Amino acid sequence: MSKPLQTINYDYAVWDRTYSYMKSNSATAKRYYEKHEFPNDTFKSLKVDGVFIFNRKNQPVFTKGFNHRSDTPLSFDLMDFNKYPQNIALSPQTKQTFPPKNSPIDNPDNVPSTDGIIATRYGPAIYSSTSILKSDRSGAQLGYLVFIRLIDKSFISELSQYTAAGVEIADIESTDTYLPTLGSNIKLAKLSPTSERLIKNVDGKPLFKLVLYHTNTQAPPLLAPNVFILLAEMSMLLILAYSLYSYFLVTPVRKLAIDIQDMDRSREIKKLRYHYPITELIKVATHFNALMGTIQEQTKQLNEQAYIDKLTNIPNRRSFEQRLETYCQLLARQQIGFTLIIADVDHFKQYNDTLGHLAGDAALIKVAQTLTQQFYRAEDMCARFGGEEFIMLFRDIPDEPLQAKLDAMLLSFKDLALPHPSSDTAPYVTISLGACKVDPIEDYQFKNNSNVIGRQVSLLADKALYQAKDAGRNQYRKVSIRLDRIEECESSNPSDQP
Ligand code: GH3
Ligand code: MG
Ligand code: MG
Repeated sequence: MSKPLQTINYDYAVWDRTYSYMKSNSATAKRYYEKHEFPNDTFKSLKVDGVFIFNRKNQPVFTKGFNHRSDTPLSFDLMDFNKYPQNIALSPQTKQTFPPKNSPIDNPDNVPSTDGIIATRYGPAIYSSTSILKSDRSGAQLGYLVFIRLIDKSFISELSQYTAAGVEIADIESTDTYLPTLGSNIKLAKLSPTSERLIKNVDGKPLFKLVLYHTNTQAPPLLAPNVFILLAEMSMLLILAYSLYSYFLVTPVRKLAIDIQDMDRSREIKKLRYHYPITELIKVATHFNALMGTIQEQTKQLNEQAYIDKLTNIPNRRSFEQRLETYCQLLARQQIGFTLIIADVDHFKQYNDTLGHLAGDAALIKVAQTLTQQFYRAEDMCARFGGEEFIMLFRDIPDEPLQAKLDAMLLSFKDLALPHPSSDTAPYVTISLGACKVDPIEDYQFKNNSNVIGRQVSLLADKALYQAKDAGRNQYRKVSIRLDRIEECESSNPSDQP
């Protein structure tokens, strides 16, 4: 804080105009210098609060006090050396400088100068004093120029900024006499939050003490702009962190949950999307899809099992009944006829008895395969009705091809030639067939429930089968019935069920 004061003090003291001022005897010239060199603005720009010019006899020639901070005039009396004899130390000639020993007379040309701290009626002040010389340092010393700056609040806060430490000035207490003086060479032995130094007056007497707080215990003001910037940065960081968290975790997990929820609601198995930003979720989706695949496969199997006969692996009775219902509806509404055939293995009890139940099972499988070979069209079907009975449906088949089918069926068993040692009919396994063909009538409105058709047709086919059995087996009987006749049969014999 003292250095800048010394520099400007030197500049003004070793200057031709100040020199001329000291030499001049003209009151006008003197007033001109005082007015133009030390107006109030100069005090403000130089940050000084007092300017004193002394002549060689240590008499004040010019004195001006002006508080550069508060813009108020000050009237110092420190230049009254009769009242304050110690202030003679302001003269650079006396060499009573502060600090006393290593006082740096720190100007480039060893022009006599001094600096230190002085008590004033407005409190302590730093001062700098330089002999008045010509700019080229020639000529006799005509006196000295003193600048002072009060150690006030602004001074302390400036000091605090430069040192990056908390600074306070405090009065000296009786216990403080052993405090080190500011500038004395002390080795720091330990870390401490504060240190105290004595500041001495020009006469060497303690003036006040300087307290330094090394730890910045002062909390930063809450509404300072840098706090806002810090808060803004932190909030942005938080937002960024949340966005990343949301992008990588929350949104994908939510999507995944929604997809699974949709699937659960619709009972429809769909593949999950794979494009998730994190591998763990991709793994979850992959395994979930695999699991769904298994479930789908099992569901398919279950469904098939419900409609497929376990032993022969052809459609079962349930499957047949569904198809029959469809055909009855087609007939009742669209006049599409169909034929129902019941096949029954001849003397099968004896087959089992002779060859055993397992051979019986194997024979049933062969029977199923042989019958199924007669079916090419998707709309026709051969199902196992139960036991050693099979039931077949042909949609919209004319008489002749039907007859050919029935012949072919009987013949296929002859070709199969599965030995039946205990049959009275043939040496191989034979079947008997009962067929009922139902013919549509154009524009006929079927009044009953279409299930009636199925019941009556089954009944008639069964009757035909028994006729075939009675007639000696290994043959077929075929009947036809018109749609309008079914309604007559149903009304005359409604409870006559197969
Ligand atoms: P018919 O020529 O009059 O039809 O005489 P059938 O012996 O074939 O008729 P019946 O109704 O008296 O006997 C049918 C036999 O079919 C009785 C049963 O042991 C046998 N059977 C039914 N289902 C199965 C099966 O799944 N496996 C085996 N091995 N035998 C079966
Ligand atoms: Mg039978
Ligand atoms: Mg039988």
